[in-house]
Amino acid sequence: MKPLLSSAPAALAFVLAAAFPLPVAAQDAAHAVRPMPINDHLVAFYQGRPDQAAVKPGPRQWPDLGAIFVGVATYAIHDGDTALVYDSFTDPVSAQWVRDWLVKAGVRRFILVNSHWHLDHIGGNVVYADSMRIATEATRAKLAMKREAIEAGTEEGPPEIRPLALPDLGVTSDTTMMVGKVRVLLRPIAIHSADGLVIELPDDQLLLAGDTLEDTATFVAEPESIPQQYRNLGAMRGWGFTKILPNHGNPAVIAAGGYGLGLIDATRAYIRALVEHSHDADFQKQPLESFVAGAIKHGDVSLWWPYRDAHANNLAVVAKAWKDKPVPAFEPAP
Ligand SMILES: [Zn+2]
Repeated sequence: MKPLLSSAPAALAFVLAAAFPLPVAAQDAAHAVRPMPINDHLVAFYQGRPDQAAVKPGPRQWPDLGAIFVGVATYAIHDGDTALVYDSFTDPVSAQWVRDWLVKAGVRRFILVNSHWHLDHIGGNVVYADSMRIATEATRAKLAMKREAIEAGTEEGPPEIRPLALPDLGVTSDTTMMVGKVRVLLRPIAIHSADGLVIELPDDQLLLAGDTLEDTATFVAEPESIPQQYRNLGAMRGWGFTKILPNHGNPAVIAAGGYGLGLIDATRAYIRALVEHSHDADFQKQPLESFVAGAIKHGDVSLWWPYRDAHANNLAVVAKAWKDKPVPAFEPAP
C-alpha cells in the first residue's frame, strides 16, 4: 500500500503524528511478526491487521495507514543456508526479527529483493546492509532520488527511515535465480507502481505479488496508468501460476497457501470500474461495497475495514486524474 496522503483526515493525522511520534517495537501486540510456513522452502511473515475496535483514536503514521492496519506480509524463499527475503517491512526491528528467525533455521546467506519503492516495503532494508539487495532499476533509481527525504522523514511524514539501504542491483527484465535448489523468477511489471517487481516460483506455480494485488482492493498509487495496469494484470494472469501470495491480504488465506486467480479478476474489475465511473456525479460518494460486492460474493476477496479509507483515497485520485479525460475502452476480461 501507500499512505493515504490525499484524504483530509489522513493529512491531519500526519500533522499530529509529527508532533507526537510513537515508538515502534516489533513485538508489541500491534507489531508482533507471525511466521506462516507455506511449504518447505517458503515462509510468510505477517504483521498487523488489528480489529477496528482495537485501534484507538489518535495520531496515525505512514506505517499504520499503509501496512499495520491492513496487515502486511513479507516472504522468505529458503533452501539450506541461503534465503531470498522479499521486502523488509516498515522498520528495522521487524526486519531483524525475520532475519533472526531465518538464522535460527540455519540461514547464513541472504539476498534481499524489494517489490517496489513504497516505504512499507523498504523500511527494514538496512538489516541487509551486508547482503546483495535487488530491485528493479526503476526502484533503485527512485529510492536514490528520494533517499534524502526518506531519511529525513519528509517523504511521507515520520517516522524517518535512516539509514536507508538502497538496492544495489537493478534488474530491467525477467531474471532467473537459484536459491539453493529452488528456481526463482524475478519479473518486473508495471502494476500498482511503474517500478514493480513480482516473484514467480514456477515449480510451485506460485506468485509473490508484492502490491500488484491486494485483498480487499488494490491501492491506486498511479491512476493515470490504470488502462496499462489493467492490460498488464491480464498478461500476468496467463503466466502459469495458480496461487498468489500478496503483501497485503487476509492472513487466513495466506496461511492456507494463497489466493486463486480470482484475485486478479477482482483487481481488474475494481480498477476498471473506478475509471468507468469516474465521471458519475456521485462518484466520490460511491462505497467500496458497490465496487467489490461481486468479488466478495464470488469469494475472491473479503471486506477488511481500513480498505474503506483506501477506497476513498482511490476515488479522490482517480477523479482528479480522469475528470477531463474520456473514459477509455477496456478489453474484456480473460
Ligand atoms: Zn505499494
